[in-house]
Amino acid sequence: MPITRNVPRRTKIVATIGPATESDDAIDELIKAGVDVLRLNFSHGTPAEHQARAEKIRRIGHDNNRHLAILTDLQGPKIRVCKFRDGSVELEVGDPFVLDTARADGDGDRDGVGVTYQKLPDDVGPGNLLVLDDGRLIFEVESVEGSQVHCRVQVGGTLSDNKGINLKGGGLTAEVLTPKDREDIKTSALIDADFVAVSFPRNAEDIETARRLLREAGSQAGLVAKIERAEALENLDEIIRASDAIMIARGDLGVEIGDAKLPAAQKDIIRKARALNCVVITATQMMESMRDNPIPTRAEVFDVANAVLDGTDAVMLSAETATGAYPAKTVAAMSDICDNAEQHARAIKSRHRLDDVFERVDEAIAMASMYTANHLGVRAIATLTESGSTALWMSRISSGIPIYALSRHDSTLRKVNLYRGVFPIYFPTIHTNHAEANQEAVDLMHKRGTIADGDLVIITKGDLMGTGGGTNAMKVVEVGNMPHFVA
Ligand code: PGA
Ligand code: MN
Repeated sequence: MPITRNVPRRTKIVATIGPATESDDAIDELIKAGVDVLRLNFSHGTPAEHQARAEKIRRIGHDNNRHLAILTDLQGPKIRVCKFRDGSVELEVGDPFVLDTARADGDGDRDGVGVTYQKLPDDVGPGNLLVLDDGRLIFEVESVEGSQVHCRVQVGGTLSDNKGINLKGGGLTAEVLTPKDREDIKTSALIDADFVAVSFPRNAEDIETARRLLREAGSQAGLVAKIERAEALENLDEIIRASDAIMIARGDLGVEIGDAKLPAAQKDIIRKARALNCVVITATQMMESMRDNPIPTRAEVFDVANAVLDGTDAVMLSAETATGAYPAKTVAAMSDICDNAEQHARAIKSRHRLDDVFERVDEAIAMASMYTANHLGVRAIATLTESGSTALWMSRISSGIPIYALSRHDSTLRKVNLYRGVFPIYFPTIHTNHAEANQEAVDLMHKRGTIADGDLVIITKGDLMGTGGGTNAMKVVEVGNMPHFVA
């Protein structure tokens, strides 16, 4: 009988929890369908609701024996129109329309409406294009008078209460961390979020500020920078260096730079993130039609597959799972697309960082392991890790070889669950006997069905197991034929 090995899906799936997925059963179904990271969107819901959802996710994740990560997503300074008297207005091409910061909320009509952002008149001028409701309407600014921005409708339609406003090309100077975001950072700490996403950051400083506030609140969560402003693209390198992960937030980014520029931007952003040891999530409208349909469109299949081929760590679902009619089906369909795309994406040779000089021993060991694994036909890698860094460095190199991150820390196991090709395994003991630790690591991978007798596997660890940054050894062993002496 031919040996069959489980090859786990490498690309991770992030799903947003919402009204459609907050029951125990719905969360259980999402987990069984293959979700890896759950997103709590702070643009909706109260802190108490998010806390309850987080507790549920942790409990049901534990029942399923999964180390699921929780990502909280701060609302940020989304600029919106205020409310209308009648909920909405119909605007036609050529109509004049006034956005007025002095106009009361609820007082909007066919001539104009209030806006939530007081500095709008300072930030825009004649000729600027304002994009409303995720690109559905476009206004051209004709003049600014005091609190009033006089516009001409270029693309018309229905404009309803609280719809978002973006400036085409970017340049709105709104403060990134609003008072609400600062409160939500505390809530994120309280629910022990594994990642916190910052909306609309312009530069590295915005991420550093969020990191400081998060640490002050007692959280060790990773920082995710949402790339959704034109300015963020200009400062991409420094933002990536300041972040643990980035999200290609294609909704707002597409509105600011134009959707046609998104595919190329996505490829550049993913390449750069990986090169700088950063994790990357591709987000927004990946399976949009599945909000109402049990199968995706072919264009969506291609979109998800292309993100996998671009090298993304994770693909994200928003409304599809938050409010859609088929949340678990959507995750399952996405999982299937990733699995198939990965068959093609398993590049076994990589020139990634081949010319780099490494300053750290653990980093060099991680790189050497991947080079060996990819060139020797190794079947699996076990990395004993405290912080998850070794697994992160390894996962930046494209490969088809599963990287098992073995750790005794729950927080590490959950964090690495976002990294492409990395699979967390709880490894409680600090061994003093290396041969014993090696055997146990191999047994754990064996149990998952990933490896069979005769396979070569790599194990990395430090002389002193259980010490952060201590990885200094890489060992190649043959499954079923391991030495029993102290290595
Ligand atoms: P949002 O971010 O859904 O929170 O707006 C994602 C995006 O803009 O694409
Ligand atoms: Mn956004």
